[in-house]
Amino acid sequence: MSDCIFCKIIRKEIPATVVFEDDDVLVFMDIGPIVKGHALVTPKKHYDPITETPDAIVAKLHLTAKRVAAAQMNAFGADGVNIMQNNGAAAGQEVEHIHVHVIPRFSTDGHHWNWNAKKYDDFSEMNKLAEDLRKHL
Ligand code: AMP
Ligand code: ZN
Repeated sequence: MSDCIFCKIIRKEIPATVVFEDDDVLVFMDIGPIVKGHALVTPKKHYDPITETPDAIVAKLHLTAKRVAAAQMNAFGADGVNIMQNNGAAAGQEVEHIHVHVIPRFSTDGHHWNWNAKKYDDFSEMNKLAEDLRKHL
């Protein structure tokens, strides 16, 4: 992917602050942190979205995210960590090269997700969605 910004980082064509790499993954600091210390775990090969990414790579990304989370707790004294991964513009994805956000959280960081929990009209509405989902799992 010649014009993918994360591929350019992986090819060292543009700079990034790398904290870890191996044959499969690159971990670097997010330039626009939700909370300072926010890191991104991305595969060295271009894949997107998660449903088109090989299982072994998805596993590796998340195992690496777990490792980064532990490092954020140890290095920064983070009280918690958010791990998230966006797929599609509707889900807020901006860079179309799969990546896992690892965001250190502190009881004092002042960040709040705008997590606006909805209500189903009734139980049958939720059951219908569950039924549709079950058919595809
Ligand atoms: P997403 O919305 O899940 O696609 O997240 C893309 C993330 O990439 C955002 O959090 C950006 O701040 C981050 N980002 C974009 N360009 C760069 C860059 N050159 N170096 C580091 N992080 C970047
Ligand atoms: Zn890419």
